[in-house]
Amino acid sequence: MPDSLTPRPMPSADPEHARQHAYDIILVGGGSAGCVLAARLTDDAELRVLLLEAGTAASELPEAVAFPPAWPTLVKTEASWGDTTVPQHSDNPSAGPGPSIPLPRGRGIGGSSAINAMVFARGHRTSYGSWADRGAKAWGYDDLLPYFQRTETAVGGAPGRGTSGPLVVGPTTEPNEVLAACLEGAVEIGQRRAHDISGGLEEGFAPVDLNIVDGRRQSAADAYLTPVLDRPNLDVVTGATAHRLLFEGERCVGVEYGVQGRVHTARAAREVVLTAGTLGSASLLLRSGIGPEQELRQAGVDVFHALPGVGRNLHDHPRINIVHRTRRTVPPARNNHGEIIGLLRSRPELDGPDLQLIFIDAPSPNPVAPVDNGFTIGVSPMRPFSRGTLRISSADPYAAPVIDPAYFTDERDVRAVLSGIATAREIAGSAALAAWGVEEIAPGPDAADTQALGRYARTVFQSYCHPVGTCALGEDEMSVVDSELRVRGLAGLRVADGSVIPSIPSNNTNATVYAIAERAAAFLRDVG
Ligand SMILES: Cc1cc2nc3c(=O)[nH]c(=O)nc-3n(C[C@H](O)[C@H](O)[C@H](O)COP(=O)(O)OP(=O)(O)OC[C@H]3O[C@@H](n4cnc5c(N)ncnc54)[C@H](O)[C@@H]3O)c2cc1C
Repeated sequence: MPDSLTPRPMPSADPEHARQHAYDIILVGGGSAGCVLAARLTDDAELRVLLLEAGTAASELPEAVAFPPAWPTLVKTEASWGDTTVPQHSDNPSAGPGPSIPLPRGRGIGGSSAINAMVFARGHRTSYGSWADRGAKAWGYDDLLPYFQRTETAVGGAPGRGTSGPLVVGPTTEPNEVLAACLEGAVEIGQRRAHDISGGLEEGFAPVDLNIVDGRRQSAADAYLTPVLDRPNLDVVTGATAHRLLFEGERCVGVEYGVQGRVHTARAAREVVLTAGTLGSASLLLRSGIGPEQELRQAGVDVFHALPGVGRNLHDHPRINIVHRTRRTVPPARNNHGEIIGLLRSRPELDGPDLQLIFIDAPSPNPVAPVDNGFTIGVSPMRPFSRGTLRISSADPYAAPVIDPAYFTDERDVRAVLSGIATAREIAGSAALAAWGVEEIAPGPDAADTQALGRYARTVFQSYCHPVGTCALGEDEMSVVDSELRVRGLAGLRVADGSVIPSIPSNNTNATVYAIAERAAAFLRDVG
């Protein structure tokens, strides 16, 4: 990374000085969405943009960010916020609360795109249909398509894919041998071999596109922000935590933020755009007195604007892991560990896929027995029904949010997973994998009935790290932003990140967040 990402000094907290240094647009959060917006908005030399990011410059992130197989180590570094959910639904409440689940999110320029697993895939087109349920206008797959395309140069060149966007994406041509055998096994048991599983049009199994270029991660910072950092109309301030939003009447006019213990304000002549992610953007609205009235009062925050949907509708993809030991040695990872995925239906009558299987070239940690050589098949319900909440405990901008995704509180999510486990077991038992000497360690052969497998799913899962929904897009009472991403009932304020996703797409979320940000930039520049 070039040194140019080093933060530039900001105007002092003196209000007179801040007024003199007014920006047109302030972006809060330099992650996937924030990097896209900073780059696209400053294409217009007339727009003066300030980007505030709580974490460090990209050049100060751990070196492992660039090295794809090392991504699992990043969640334990300063590049992640280190959040954990409240105890989740208990399978047996008399025995105590359920597990608290780590929910990593990126911190620093690039945000979660700098620590994620680099899978780049649109949801299946059917999963965007429900975005209209709350009244969101023109947010179906076909409406999003130009923005998906704008993000990418898809090297596979499949129909409907972008050809000139900043993200250079494609599947690996040499998947890990054990994962290639899993793919062969999936086809052997009758699953469809997809051509382009990343484009949103297909079901079945195939190598998925990755954000890896020449063996290195390509984050949002690499693709979008770093190339434009020398623009005179862009200021980037890192180590800057947004405390609260500033209003004149009902118009948002700026942001109060802290850097190394000092409080500053910055003013936006046109708009403030929240790109602080599903947990960060909702928390900032709540701290600013925008949210469900009773909850705000409980947290000791004065109600500025009642908006009952803020922090509601939090949902995520939980993932359970079927862990296998193999006699044959699994070759070391070259990419992101999870190079091949499958999108399938848990029930044939569904209108589209509601399950993802991901083949992983390492044995995941599991509660049954340590495994030093093997592979994992991850099973995740892609269209979960469970819904939870994001709350704040106080107005303190440095207090951790109270995160309750309420995983598996809707039994339909468990049922979908059980169907996926059955398919995963068939694949592991296929002739294609016989030469590997496969033994299922977790949940293990003793977990054979619905009850035992359901218990495993509900208690031994992890977050797939795709939280969405806390500032949901729509036009009804529980919507937080309208169809042009404006916070309902206020002026000069939008949200444009994963939090606006009203119902999660049926694949990993980053490609969808990039498309939302591209569209937000078009709204703000009024260029369609
Ligand atoms: C470990 C992990 C693995 C994942 N794997 C994949 C994958 O393989 N494929 C995929 O598609 N998706 C994956 N995801 C999810 C995907 O990366 C996210 O959906 C996407 O990056 C979200 O983008 P965003 O812009 O909404 O938020 P983020 O990228 O998280 O950006 C939010 C930014 O705002 C900053 N911020 C927050 N609060 C404040 C504040 N108060 N003041 C200033 N700044 C603030 C944060 O530090 C952060 O930089 C993964 C996520 C994680 C964490």
